[in-house]
Amino acid sequence: MIHYDDDYYYEFSKKSNLTKNNLIFPLFVDESNKFQELNVMPGIFKVPYNKIIQTLEEVVESGVHSIILFGIPRLRNSMGTAAISKNGIVQKSLKLIKSNFGNKISTITDVCICQYNDTGHCGLFKKTKKVVDNDLTIELLSNIALSHAIAGVDIVAPSSMMDGQVKRIKEKLDINGYNKIKILSFSAKQSSSLYKPFRSETFFHSTNEIDKSTYQVPYHNPREIQREIENDIHEGSNMVMIKPAMSSLDLIYRIKKICTIPLVVQIVSGEYSMIKAASTIGLFDETMYILNLISALKRSGADKIITYSSLHISKFLI
Ligand SMILES: [Zn+2]
Repeated sequence: MIHYDDDYYYEFSKKSNLTKNNLIFPLFVDESNKFQELNVMPGIFKVPYNKIIQTLEEVVESGVHSIILFGIPRLRNSMGTAAISKNGIVQKSLKLIKSNFGNKISTITDVCICQYNDTGHCGLFKKTKKVVDNDLTIELLSNIALSHAIAGVDIVAPSSMMDGQVKRIKEKLDINGYNKIKILSFSAKQSSSLYKPFRSETFFHSTNEIDKSTYQVPYHNPREIQREIENDIHEGSNMVMIKPAMSSLDLIYRIKKICTIPLVVQIVSGEYSMIKAASTIGLFDETMYILNLISALKRSGADKIITYSSLHISKFLI
């Protein structure tokens, strides 16, 4: 395995036009009290409330200043009500982070219900049929976003892929005096098998795939993906996101040309797990590969990159 010196990485950072400011670190905050590494995502932990400060001290130390929080509640129910509790795990965590780190950390929160309801779907079901009720769901999403705003979040990130979610959240925030809170929409969350490690380990304890293809966007139609993004911008999104990342370089390039607001991409759990698995058995060098990947994402047009490898890779960036 080749080892490069610090100058090599410094030069990499300069040449790639990449800095630590381009990175966003995903953090799973868990209402249980276990500090637990995820089986299929080595190096990534479910972090209980009493370990959040310690974990974020490491994040700040690494020079990464932006995090996205995903909550793992203790209890789920049919209406996902734990998601709007003012003492919910995300709401409590936001207050703790703000009071301990102030502006040193910019907080983004995932706004969805799949981790809070008992189906694992990103929407609430209609009473009689097993189909997602879009309007009921966006009302709940707007209340989740408001509860995060009250708890001190900087940016809310709706990820359900429901129609009109950005518009309804923006209205709810504005009417309650939180018009400074920004919205990062998971605009082009493509239907993919690559979310499975995250989903099965953290949100929904099932080995079965949950079919979300009726509301996630298909990956084979770039015009539809572009429309999703244009709709979200029209509804008032301040930033938009494309995920998964590795298979979306053409989309990132295409969208960047028409998009005047920041474009975020996420290297998702399945991508992280693949890289870990391949590097663990010696197929390639993990660091070299990730530097190549994030450089390609930046080159294609990504402004910010959400990656589980943020803390590892920040060592090699200015
Ligand atoms: Zn979801």
